[in-house]
Amino acid sequence: MSYEVNEKFLAKLVSVPRATGYEFPAQLEMKSYLENDVDKITSDNLGNLCAIINPDSPFKIMLAGHIDQIGFQISYIDDEGYLWFLPLGGFDTSTLPGKRVKVFSEKGEFLGVIGKKAIHLMKPEERKKAPEMEKLFIDIGCKDKEEALIKVDVGDFAVFDYGYARLGDNGLAVAAGFDDAIGAFIVAEIMRELAKDKSFYAGVYGVSTVQEEIGLRGATVAARNLKPDVGIAFDVGFAADAPDLEKKAIGDTKMGGGPIISIGPNLNPIVVKRLFATAEKLGIPCQKHAANRGTGTDANAIQLAGAATGLVSIPNRYMHTASELIHLEDVKNIIKLVVEFIKEIKEKDSFLPL
Ligand SMILES: [Zn+2]
Repeated sequence: MSYEVNEKFLAKLVSVPRATGYEFPAQLEMKSYLENDVDKITSDNLGNLCAIINPDSPFKIMLAGHIDQIGFQISYIDDEGYLWFLPLGGFDTSTLPGKRVKVFSEKGEFLGVIGKKAIHLMKPEERKKAPEMEKLFIDIGCKDKEEALIKVDVGDFAVFDYGYARLGDNGLAVAAGFDDAIGAFIVAEIMRELAKDKSFYAGVYGVSTVQEEIGLRGATVAARNLKPDVGIAFDVGFAADAPDLEKKAIGDTKMGGGPIISIGPNLNPIVVKRLFATAEKLGIPCQKHAANRGTGTDANAIQLAGAATGLVSIPNRYMHTASELIHLEDVKNIIKLVVEFIKEIKEKDSFLPL
């Protein structure tokens, strides 16, 4: 199979707002990208989007990529017109000051910046510490509360405003929120490739899951409803090829080194074995990751719904910052690998470890 990454759609997907719990615009984008190719599309009360191929097959494989990205929920607007916020997901507060964000409301979208006291005005002990989340705020350039309320209100949300770009000449790309737009993108591309020739055994349920960043909530509900036989989650994983990272702790992984396949209690040994065997057959480089407990990914929720589970991660640098990196060759290889993995599943195959 020949495949080239559809960078145009990827760039579009990362730029559509999809803060945790506010993923609906991105899901609609995803729906229109897939609806002409797959057999059926469904959704649920949380906003998970599920594209289906071969719905009549008795064997169900669920693919999950969480569409949500970390963001900010507006919780209070003060008299001067500054917006105070709560985090939607996990942030390192030292990466926040000075960042551009986009605030979304029913009135439209508004550029904002995360403000903080200048270093000149900080006491020596304050300079050594990461800022406290409660002391950071968003400035959207309003003169007072009254003007701010014309544009936004409590309950609205914001995300980093850093779109898609290539970085250097070696296949790297950068954007805010590749975690996990890239996983949802990979699921969509696998579905589009599979749709070209549906003469394989498995029924495939490609789910763009929601609310992963606050506790795998979308995948929990989607897996519970679908009851898949096999499930594979796609998420970003740590690449150890950046300064100050300890390979002894995170493994020897790198950008462009191929899909990271997790091994351990959260993962079904037959799924893992078949992923490596398929990669070898196709000549795709792979990287191993030892996961000694439930992974903090949708794979955890899928396994607890009873499925034989796999986790394929996209090597990533600078996770949960405004500039997350991925390698396009890794994206391509993951799509090729999993398309073939699915096509190889036959009626007689069992994923029972005993
Ligand atoms: Zn993620």
